[in-house]
Amino acid sequence: MIDQVVILLGPPGSGKGTQATRLSAELGVPHVATGDMFRTQMEEGTDLGQRAGRYMDSGRLVPDELVTEMLFVRVDGEDCVEGYVLDGFPRNLSQAESLDQGLEGRWSSSVASLEVPDEVLVERIAGRLLCREDSNHIYHASFSPPKVEGVCDECGGELYRREDDNPEVVAERLYVYREQTAAVITHYAQDGRLEPVDGNQGPDEVYRALRSAVEGSDVEEGG
Ligand SMILES: [Zn+2]
Repeated sequence: MIDQVVILLGPPGSGKGTQATRLSAELGVPHVATGDMFRTQMEEGTDLGQRAGRYMDSGRLVPDELVTEMLFVRVDGEDCVEGYVLDGFPRNLSQAESLDQGLEGRWSSSVASLEVPDEVLVERIAGRLLCREDSNHIYHASFSPPKVEGVCDECGGELYRREDDNPEVVAERLYVYREQTAAVITHYAQDGRLEPVDGNQGPDEVYRALRSAVEGSDVEEGG
């Protein structure tokens, strides 16, 4: 049986968003991504959205209590009654502890952590080529290059690298991520919920590993 709440952890470039989308589609439960949640609340101009907006407009971090409150409002929605796949939360120990309290006695949860070495993540992100015409057209200089250098196969648009995707900036982002989530990983490892998933393989292999990680030990692998 599938745990009802799946908490998916993974560094930038680990493919976490893609894997979360696929898992939620297959399980038939929502993909709750905290980034999307913020945007929705702010667009809808809810009280929570406005409060978060004030922090973001002034360049401050949205406090944990507010992020957590927003999450609980979101997962209280009718579409989450059978569970959800959580992507982008918790980011630190305080959020993890609040989440434990919120889930206690009502939900079983499993935590899958996509593991990819930093040098692989840097290579993945730093090689990324984006299309100026359509943000869904994504290439990689080494792993999936376009047929003609600098030109999108699908629409002929110009390909470019994001400034933030240079190796130094990526390394810095990864450092910050590791620093914030180390305590979260330890927390879940200590209570036995952490399921490490080898994220350093093709997307289909990662997905299979993720599926068996969240299925639990009573289910036979395969299929
Ligand atoms: Zn294109």
